[in-house]
Amino acid sequence: MSTICAISTPVAEGGISVIRISGENALNVAEKIFAPHTCPSVAGMAGYTCAYGQINDNGRAVDDGVLTVFRAPHSYTGEDVCEISCHGGIYVTKRVLRLCLENGAEPAQAGEFTKRAMLNGKLSLTQAEAVMDTIAAQGEYALASANLTRKGSLFGRIDKVTKELVKLLGELAAWVDYPEEDLPAVEENALRESLKNAVSVTGRLLADSDNGMLIKNGIDTVIAGRPNVGKSTLMNLLLGYDRSIVTEVAGTTRDVIEESARLGELIFRLSDTAGIRDTEDKVEKIGVEMAQKRLEECMLVIEVFDTSVKPDDDDTALLEKVRSLGKRALIVLNKSDLESAVGEDFFREYCENIVCISAKDPNDREKIQHALEKIFTPENYDADSTIFANERQRGCLVKANKNLTAALEALEMGETLDAVTVMIDYAADSLLELTGEKATEAVVSEVFSKFCVGK
Ligand code: GDP
Ligand code: ZN
Repeated sequence: MSTICAISTPVAEGGISVIRISGENALNVAEKIFAPHTCPSVAGMAGYTCAYGQINDNGRAVDDGVLTVFRAPHSYTGEDVCEISCHGGIYVTKRVLRLCLENGAEPAQAGEFTKRAMLNGKLSLTQAEAVMDTIAAQGEYALASANLTRKGSLFGRIDKVTKELVKLLGELAAWVDYPEEDLPAVEENALRESLKNAVSVTGRLLADSDNGMLIKNGIDTVIAGRPNVGKSTLMNLLLGYDRSIVTEVAGTTRDVIEESARLGELIFRLSDTAGIRDTEDKVEKIGVEMAQKRLEECMLVIEVFDTSVKPDDDDTALLEKVRSLGKRALIVLNKSDLESAVGEDFFREYCENIVCISAKDPNDREKIQHALEKIFTPENYDADSTIFANERQRGCLVKANKNLTAALEALEMGETLDAVTVMIDYAADSLLELTGEKATEAVVSEVFSKFCVGK
């Protein structure tokens, strides 16, 4: 395989830049351009050591720098790796890169270092994806779960199910050799139990990966309540600037507006919806239908009420609807600056998370933040459940879960073992694709194309 090089730090002015070289010839390339002051030669450097020295272009000094050597297989890529740290100017960094290219290295493709790490068995595909997530993480939760996945927790859980399926397939192959006989009851029971377990484990992984998505992409949140209770005002409070149109006329917010708000470590994707009241107005009706749909799909409902007026049928309908959907919810009792017409007790039977605020008061933003943090505490996302998956991983899991469910059904309906085996086989294939053990070249290329050059 060729020796590749790239600038591994952002190409911008900074204190230092790192140029990374990986491949059989990495040390040769470094030898030609780096004259160490602190040791006799580059070739003599052991792995995990570094040297201070001069970067030269045909004997002419380009910069001072530090060379770090990693020897195969103990490096990120599993190959010989040299990292040259030089001064962080854009020109000097590019100059050092060019020197590497002129002395036998080839430019690395996006993600090629990590791809080589995977091909050399240093990382699974899911771990490689986690490397990318770590780089992209925008908050503490996202970072923590990327770190977990990078350490292999998703891979470990998938691997366990996959191994069990492969074992099962082995046993099935043996049983299929006796076609005259019916499967002994004991073995059929064992098969049924194994399948049930695999269905439940993959189902659990799917639910967890949805949690992961939630942390990564923001919590999909609907702000609901009848017109004029202060939804738009609340949305603006959470966003920190005037986004939706706030008016005194009931029913103004007709479109669903989506914005991301960050409260502490949590990111919320908020949509301010039209109320869910009955209406004859055609345009408003569309808004109401959209609001209904959003309510069913979202992960969190913020139910807003105007406490200066008595709750009406629309308010009760909302409370009941959210409770019956079993959604995570926060009840916001708004307009606390006005005289109250209804007590907290009325709401408590619908939901335990209640906060009293005035959406017009900027100081009350923090009250909402605390209430939301109580609903989404890190304990609610214990280490194991912060597993992150991307759409590719999720797709593989969905396929595996579907095929396992179908296999279980086929078994219950007395289908042939051959049919059951085929479905289990598909499921195992999907899981192997997830971890990259059986991923096609196209899948692998797609994953790495999203990386930056130098990683
Ligand atoms: P929406 O229809 O639910 O989106 O309600 P808006 O946010 O448009 O607010 C309706 C009216 O209530 C506007 O006149 C707001 O200024 C007012 N309003 C919102 N929140 C408060 C509050 O906490 N106290 C008071 N006194 N008025 C508020
Ligand atoms: Zn509004």
